[in-house]
Amino acid sequence: MIERKCLSCGTWNKEEDHCSKCGNPISPKEIIKVETKKKKLEEANKPKGKFELFTERMKNHKYFLIRVFYKIGYSIGMVFAALGGFFAWMVAMANG
Ligand SMILES: [Zn+2]
Repeated sequence: MIERKCLSCGTWNKEEDHCSKCGNPISPKEIIKVETKKKKLEEANKPKGKFELFTERMKNHKYFLIRVFYKIGYSIGMVFAALGGFFAWMVAMANG
């Protein structure tokens, strides 16, 4: 018989998924489920990073020149990403 201690209130429970006293998840399976759910929620509510805020501001900047500058920088980034993928593919083909 496995007994699980509730991390929230300290009650010992028998083989159950949730604490009989407070309803907190106590089985590893349930805990993982709750943790991933919490992480996803945190991810969604996370404040934007400095770089993201910077690019966001550039994208919607009142000066046309800044917006053009952002678009050029963005395009160059995309080209480099595409080139990187292409070279990775070339190397993979050469070795195969
Ligand atoms: Zn409990």
